[in-house]
Amino acid sequence: MPPRPTRKYPSQETLSRRLSILEFKDYFDPAAVRSNISERTHEPDGGSHRAVRALDVVALCLTSGEQGDVTAAAFYPIDSKKQNTLIVCKNREATPQDRLRLIDFKKTLIASSAWTDVFRDFILRHCAENITKRVKLFKESFSQIHKQLEDMANTYTPPQAPLDQVFPRSDKLRETLYKGGEPADPRVMLFDVLRKCRQAAGEFAIDRPEERETAQQNLDKYLDLWKLADCIRVSAFMELLLLPLSTSDDIVAKFIRRLNKVCQYARIELLLKHYDWTTLPTCWATLSSTVMPQGGKFSRGTANSMLEPLMSKQKSNLAAINMMKNTSKVWNPRDILRPTIHAEIKMIIFIHTRTSPKAVSDSPSPQLPIGCSKRSCICCSIWIAAFNESSEMAWMTSGSHGKPYDQWAFANTVKLPDSLYEHVAAAQDIVADRIRGILVKFVGSALLTEQELQLFPESDEDASAGESDTSSNKLDLY
Ligand SMILES: [Zn+2]
Repeated sequence: MPPRPTRKYPSQETLSRRLSILEFKDYFDPAAVRSNISERTHEPDGGSHRAVRALDVVALCLTSGEQGDVTAAAFYPIDSKKQNTLIVCKNREATPQDRLRLIDFKKTLIASSAWTDVFRDFILRHCAENITKRVKLFKESFSQIHKQLEDMANTYTPPQAPLDQVFPRSDKLRETLYKGGEPADPRVMLFDVLRKCRQAAGEFAIDRPEERETAQQNLDKYLDLWKLADCIRVSAFMELLLLPLSTSDDIVAKFIRRLNKVCQYARIELLLKHYDWTTLPTCWATLSSTVMPQGGKFSRGTANSMLEPLMSKQKSNLAAINMMKNTSKVWNPRDILRPTIHAEIKMIIFIHTRTSPKAVSDSPSPQLPIGCSKRSCICCSIWIAAFNESSEMAWMTSGSHGKPYDQWAFANTVKLPDSLYEHVAAAQDIVADRIRGILVKFVGSALLTEQELQLFPESDEDASAGESDTSSNKLDLY
């Protein structure tokens, strides 16, 4: 077998430092956000669209809500079997609790006939923290935007259509709100629903989630909120909100995202309707190594040392100095970075190592969906796009928030078959290149002079020349 070519990468530490700076400066990439949206609209029959929504819900149900607990899920036939397997993995190693949770989840799905059963018997016990967090964020967004919503509602002209079209599937809600009657006009209903939804979000609290006696009351409380939130979500008024959206950072966009997240549990219905859980096998995706063994653990404080030379040269620029000084608040020098391979990348590598490349590309689906409990980060979205390009695959997730994470790891410690090596290497090349480019453009235009730009050289060979750990510049694949 011919030796694999040596590639030049920045070290993991250099990449993490660069990501740290972007993360500190609240960078997000609008291109990454847009790229995912367009991918989703390319589907002819909505097949993978539905699958990715179902898989997003699986990932959500298997996530506790703790910081850093991100889950990915995919349906794929592995080990030369024809039948789909539900494959799941996490950013971190799966614990025995994670494994028990998956078993319990499957049992609950088999025993349930409606999503509300799964919510009462599984979600409340395992995801209470996550629900509480979602409702809290939704409430915050609602407070930020409610004046704007009221202004829009005031000038809103509802379509000349029956109430069932202005507020689809709202008959039960109308019965509760108007005691069997109907609202005076659609605008009255809109105001009522907005006000009551905000109130329900404000009052929402889960009481003793682990106990069976309180489960039904907790479900009822969630349903009270869900009916109102879902009514807004599918209303004709919502189209008015979606119209002016330009960036994902917009507070309206944030409100819509959080509204969707509060309602997302009802999508468990998709899992009950379209999949046979009695025969669906499950498996955890594990890779031979997921934490960088050498140079994979380092102090986040090193990012400060990269900024210090800039600070000394920016003495005349007060705004820049203040911005730089704030870094010490964000980066505790004692913080240790332990970059890990993100769940969606782990999933792709796992499936490719367990399936022959032909079987993967013969898949009948035009897009290969991966569900995630969180939208993908900038590095994952660049990596997936580059991997797809190199391998002619069509992996997709439901979206990206375009943000950087300095704990994002290169996958260069994983044992890879030859058929996969070039594609992973190509994807890494492009991630490294794009992040460097973004940093030069972003930091350079805001803060740097021409000389200072030399601190972020064009070539990564130069960038890592002064580092002690030069061995990690190579892609150490086995
Ligand atoms: Zn990621």
